[in-house]
Amino acid sequence: MEIPKHRHCLNCGISIPPDQVFCSEKCRIEYMQRRKRMLRTQYMFLAIAGLIILYYIITIVWKM
Ligand SMILES: [Zn+2]
Repeated sequence: MEIPKHRHCLNCGISIPPDQVFCSEKCRIEYMQRRKRMLRTQYMFLAIAGLIILYYIITIVWKM
C-alpha cells in the first residue's frame, strides 16, 4: 500500500503539494484569523478559571 506524498490545507483540508501548508493566500489569512480568535477564547477561559481559583483561595484564607 502506497500513500502518495501530499498534505492537506490547514484551513479547508483539500489536498495540496507537500511543500505547501495552505492551498491559497486566502486560506492562510483565514487560518491565522481563526487561530487568533481561538487563542483569545483560550486566554479568556484561563483567565476565568484563574479568577475562580483565586476566589476559592481567598475564601479559604478568609475563613482561617
Ligand atoms: Zn485551503
